Amino acid sequence: MKSAAAETAKANDMEGKWVFTLHKPSWLPFLQYADNRNLREKLYKAMYTRGDNDNEFDNKKNINKIVNLRIEKANMLGYDTHADFVMEERMAKTPENVYKLLNEVWEYALPQVKKEAVELQAIADKEGADFKIQSWDWFYYTEKLREQKYALNEEELKPYFRMENVREGVFATANKLYGLNFTKLENVPVYHPEVEAYEVTDADGSHIAIFYTDYFPRAGKNAGAWMSSFRGQSVQDGENIRPLIYNVGNFTRSTAETPSLLTLDEVETLFHEFGHALHGMLSDVTYSGLSGTSVPRDFVELPSQVMEHWAFHPEVLKLYAKHYETGEVIPDELIEKMDAASKFNMGFTTAEFVAAALLDMDYHTQKEQKEFDVRDFETKSMEKIGLIDVVIPRYRSTYFSHIFSGGYSAGYYSYLWSEVLDADAFQPFVENGIFDQASAQSFRENVLSKGNSEDPMVLYKKYRGAEPNPIYLLKNRGFVN
Ligand SMILES: [Zn+2]
Repeated sequence: MKSAAAETAKANDMEGKWVFTLHKPSWLPFLQYADNRNLREKLYKAMYTRGDNDNEFDNKKNINKIVNLRIEKANMLGYDTHADFVMEERMAKTPENVYKLLNEVWEYALPQVKKEAVELQAIADKEGADFKIQSWDWFYYTEKLREQKYALNEEELKPYFRMENVREGVFATANKLYGLNFTKLENVPVYHPEVEAYEVTDADGSHIAIFYTDYFPRAGKNAGAWMSSFRGQSVQDGENIRPLIYNVGNFTRSTAETPSLLTLDEVETLFHEFGHALHGMLSDVTYSGLSGTSVPRDFVELPSQVMEHWAFHPEVLKLYAKHYETGEVIPDELIEKMDAASKFNMGFTTAEFVAAALLDMDYHTQKEQKEFDVRDFETKSMEKIGLIDVVIPRYRSTYFSHIFSGGYSAGYYSYLWSEVLDADAFQPFVENGIFDQASAQSFRENVLSKGNSEDPMVLYKKYRGAEPNPIYLLKNRGFVN
């Protein structure tokens, strides 16, 4: 981390110093590990007052304007609020449904984050701190607690997650669930030598799709991971045109000494994007505009996020997580550690998210255009839900670009909505077995093959027999037993 900061310094003509920036990959590790409390405070405050310094870059007036213009637009189109306008085409349908979910989760997250604050204060006290911990202390003491509680070293895990093994794992999962087979193709054109192509066939041997993987970073390639298609599925003149689907990632490359060994995050991402790929590949509708992943934003992450549940399930890990040198299957003790660590700090993660999602909803359910003070609006919004001082929303208003410049206005909730869906959707596999055939067939038939050809809630209820229940998300986050 220090050498990265030294390089940033060098790039900014400050050789011999360290430069930390307000980008998360830079400030977060600083907040986690820097012993100098004053500098932690300085950096964190600089981060969370972005766009809020009463200077020429201040965003408060812009936010006021955006909110008012959105009300005007919604009214012109016949809606009371911007949120009503946006949600009509979402699975959630109404702002009330979103508030209901967010408030329900908040009821569990708030006591949990308060409990975590007490735990962190205790560590600080034990170290002789004579202060009440503040938001810039949270990450620092959280790291100390993580070390004490779990001692989970990612380097110890990596040898079990060679990229080729993980990819075999996701193929094996698709085989056991849906009967799909993957055959490497050497005779199809690809856009880069590192791209690999597979023919995907169904249990009866019939052709389903071509699936391409492009997993490693290179100069000129976008960061991140995603799924897309060269051709979507459709029916034309009676012929079922099968899709050409690809997954892109920027995973850890092999080195001179080791093959490509993935971090847990990367493993999760690989399964996630493959879930989107299945949604594209198993599509079976008439119109390409309604096929595969062309579904509402708060529904599109269901097939991908549900796949993540298989990634780290003990039975699935045993299939693919094998040491790249010895072939040894990952030991139970490591699997248990991974499971325990996955529930760590969940009060905080949930609280900062839900706080931001509620702030988004509060802005976009305003009915009247008026002048308001953004700081004041935000404070009131957070007081209403009783957010504690030591935690700030995941995004504060003046740099909440998801909702003021990205496409997520009245939509930030959708990440949590999808998680409610995926937790609930996975439940039949918890109850009936991780590769339960009846559940897999129903999921394929009612969700994966249908694209946007029917209302998402109708599709979901066909699969589950009921609307999704948030209880399974609360369980996964360790809030209820
Ligand atoms: Zn996704």
